[in-house]
Amino acid sequence: MSLTDPVPATRAFACPRCEQQVEEAWYGPCTSCRQELRSHLRGEAHELAAADYVPKMNVTPNAVATKD
Ligand SMILES: [Zn+2]
Repeated sequence: MSLTDPVPATRAFACPRCEQQVEEAWYGPCTSCRQELRSHLRGEAHELAAADYVPKMNVTPNAVATKD
């Protein structure tokens, strides 16, 4: 340990996703990959929410009404 040699805020490595040489604070997908993943995940979450919502509307059961 030496105060004259501080730990760098970022480290250089090859992004495990796009394999580009990047400098990031933590090892993992680079900033552009994280943005891509985030928008992709948000899109999926939106699709899932929509897919979950539509069946619930369709499920309004006629069976219950016809039981009467
Ligand atoms: Zn990347």
